Amino acid sequence: MSSNHALFQRALERIPGGVNSPVRAFRSVGGEPFFTARADGACLWDVEGKRYIDYVGSWGPMIAGHNHPHVRAAVERAIQNGLSFGTPCPAEVTMAETITRLIPSIDVVRMVNSGTEATMSAIRLARGHTGRARIVKFEGCYHGHADAFLVKAGSGALTLGTPTSPGVPAALADLTLTLPFNDFEAATALFDAFGVEIAGLIVEPVPGNMNCIPPREGYLQHLRALCSRHGALLIFDEVMTGFRVALGGAQAHYGVTPDLTTLGKIIGGGMPVGAYGGRREIMQQIAPAGPVYQAGTLSGNPVAMAAGLAMLELIQQPGFHEELARRTRLLTDGLQAIADGEGIAFSTQRVGAMFGLFFTAQKVETYAQATATDTAAFNRFFQAMLERGVFLAPSAYEAGFVSSAHDEQIIAETLEAARGAFRAVKNG
Ligand code: PMP
Repeated sequence: MSSNHALFQRALERIPGGVNSPVRAFRSVGGEPFFTARADGACLWDVEGKRYIDYVGSWGPMIAGHNHPHVRAAVERAIQNGLSFGTPCPAEVTMAETITRLIPSIDVVRMVNSGTEATMSAIRLARGHTGRARIVKFEGCYHGHADAFLVKAGSGALTLGTPTSPGVPAALADLTLTLPFNDFEAATALFDAFGVEIAGLIVEPVPGNMNCIPPREGYLQHLRALCSRHGALLIFDEVMTGFRVALGGAQAHYGVTPDLTTLGKIIGGGMPVGAYGGRREIMQQIAPAGPVYQAGTLSGNPVAMAAGLAMLELIQQPGFHEELARRTRLLTDGLQAIADGEGIAFSTQRVGAMFGLFFTAQKVETYAQATATDTAAFNRFFQAMLERGVFLAPSAYEAGFVSSAHDEQIIAETLEAARGAFRAVKNG
């Protein structure tokens, strides 16, 4: 069998940077990515047989753990009937009914194949519906790789130091206005200046692509009020937070109702799925009900719908999210106690089953604070954890995820690894 290194050498020859998504490369932390042979529960195993406790969870979808038998069985049943039909299939209807039941702000929903497709379609709809051109996003938020969003973007774009991508025409980038997250006055001022030109404001209600930064008390309500006052649509990008921070997403957790919501990750159960939806009269603008065009050869794919529906069944079990939040707290409190014991400047944030680790003594509430943390210390911690069989996202600017397979035993094992890893950070 090939080693990780041999595979990466081959990959570098034929795939840009050796990876099919930049966040997978260990560019900022150093070293080479490992190649996963299989995944189960809370763990990944690489091609050399090494086991890792995984806090990436395929970047969010695997909230019930990897290779869950209920999801796998649903996929196995679905593939008996064929992989794609190109006609409507029953599972799409069940999916639309399930999403609209779990997220009451969504009356009508359209399935797509990725988070990027969901967000780019949502802003086209916002523009089509309002007849306005400008959109507002937040510095450090990531909404996929459509042109309009690669302006002061988070995630891999931030990690690699290219938050505003070449290839995005200035004429297009100029239509994207950006704001600092958690700044009340800046948002008010921007809407005062540009209000009648703004089609929509898109926000990760809990930003998870500049590490994990919860909204300040009342901030999402403030954005809601600004959008309502100025006739702009409020778009919650819940690709990451949807079904994770609570069953009804961040909008349920914080009690704020957006006009449109974008979804992805968990609703596909590990298959390539996204969705966007919202108020009926807005969504009726989408073709063929209305004139705003959006389509997809594989959208609503029967196998993907089966995986997603099985995942949504799992997370509707009573107490599922409460238990996940408790486990996440065990993890972040445990890490904090160890770091404090070692005298390391360290803080954490968490909402539901999403968390952030920061090498700073401060509470981090803004992009400026997140990017001022000690990333060299994070990189050493990342490597020391990896050596000890714990896989964190390979960047100081990504949220971490806990799944229901991360039981107390797995968390205890993680904290044991962290004891050694924090000591390694301290000793430089
Ligand atoms: N929005 C958010 C909040 C995301 O975190 C991501 C991906 N991490 C996306 C959109 C894009 O989703 P995808 O990678 O499926 O295109």
